[in-house]
Amino acid sequence: MREDEDVLLDYPGDLVGFAEALTAAERAKLTQLRQHLEAQVRPLLIPAWEAGTCPAEIRGPLAALRLEDDPALGGDDGRPSALYQGFKTLELSRLDLGVSIIYGGQVGMFRTLVLEGGSPEQIAAWDADILGFRKTGCFALTEPDHGSDIAGGLATTARRTDDGWVLHGRKRWIGNATISDEICVIAREEGGDRVLAFLVPSHAPGMELSVIEHKAALRHVHNADIVLSGVHVAEEARLPRIESFRDINRAFRSLRAVIAWNSAGMQLGAYDAALRYAQQREQFGAPIAGYQLIQEKLVQIVANIAQTLALAVRTATHPLIDDVTPSLIKLVAADRLRETAALAREIVGGNGLLLEHDVARFFVDAEAMYTFEGTRETNVLIVGRKLTGISAFTRR
Ligand SMILES: Cc1cc2nc3c(=O)[nH]c(=O)nc-3n(C[C@H](O)[C@H](O)[C@H](O)COP(=O)(O)OP(=O)(O)OC[C@H]3O[C@@H](n4cnc5c(N)ncnc54)[C@H](O)[C@@H]3O)c2cc1C
Repeated sequence: MREDEDVLLDYPGDLVGFAEALTAAERAKLTQLRQHLEAQVRPLLIPAWEAGTCPAEIRGPLAALRLEDDPALGGDDGRPSALYQGFKTLELSRLDLGVSIIYGGQVGMFRTLVLEGGSPEQIAAWDADILGFRKTGCFALTEPDHGSDIAGGLATTARRTDDGWVLHGRKRWIGNATISDEICVIAREEGGDRVLAFLVPSHAPGMELSVIEHKAALRHVHNADIVLSGVHVAEEARLPRIESFRDINRAFRSLRAVIAWNSAGMQLGAYDAALRYAQQREQFGAPIAGYQLIQEKLVQIVANIAQTLALAVRTATHPLIDDVTPSLIKLVAADRLRETAALAREIVGGNGLLLEHDVARFFVDAEAMYTFEGTRETNVLIVGRKLTGISAFTRR
């Protein structure tokens, strides 16, 4: 690696120096990713965000970078380290949360579902195509009438037939659905207790997808409403190791850290933009960066980044094994992000409302992250139940 390439991978907002633990090979890969994002993806961002169009074409070139399976990254088990995986997510969201979702929804969420829920035969048949974006997918759990209470309220049903299953129901907010070949639909087994996962072709007869319009955050990520009216699915399209919400939580456990990495990345991006602006913008005859009230905000942002990165890096060395820690991490990561995005927006003043200064995008997209993967209230209730032994999800 050339010396100037390494400088390109600087993280000025990481004052504690968490990134120093990356190996030279990992830094080289992340540098390559950053150069690609800046040159090829950044120019697409504002037009797509403003028009509400999804730049799905970024997926192929990102897949070609082999961020997930470059042999140069291999550890002892031939897989990239968890720390690298985290910084890869951070690098994507440092540019833009939507880019991280368009790419990570596939290689993170969809791939993990198949790896953790699929049979060995399914994994052998599909994994290479999933990595190469030749078989694309997304995850459909939320329903119009059931968000936070989906575990108890799941209304989509799966009825067994002689040759497979028939699905009925509705899904809402499903990210990347309209750019996916397969939708991983979670449904309750009719006449049984099981919660099942099916890979349903998005164009299967009976599937109706429509993009949710007029969204004020993550405008360039398309979320869909889906209606399933008697959709026939073969038994081979069912992920056999998912039979309950416990299994879904298990499958996603390793993924829950992603939220902390995305939060840290967005905060680093917001910090870079805010610092750059504060150093250039002069008011009262001097750069605003020289005023104490601005410095206080910049320091608070860096402190927020340190807290978020500390949690994220911890998940890289100590994999999440319980169902409570991810909730604690999500609520801290989302709180810190929300504060950081607001402070950065504030530093940039009126210009902070313009997309070209980056902070406006982080500001509104932080609201999306605040809600998905469990709202603050849901996560508080999960942690509160653990602390007290009393569930406060429903009124007594
Ligand atoms: C941008 C975006 C992308 C998404 N992507 C996906 C996806 O790809 N796949 C998918 O399946 N889902 C997805 N979701 C759905 C997301 O998981 C839900 O929005 C989330 O679970 C919250 O559900 P809800 O929006 O219906 O809010 P509700 O559950 O209706 O909650 C409304 C408010 O009430 C609060 N509340 C609810 N219950 C209680 C209680 N017992 N006590 C106190 N407060 C309570 C909530 O915290 C919240 O503040 C996405 C959502 C967004 C916004």
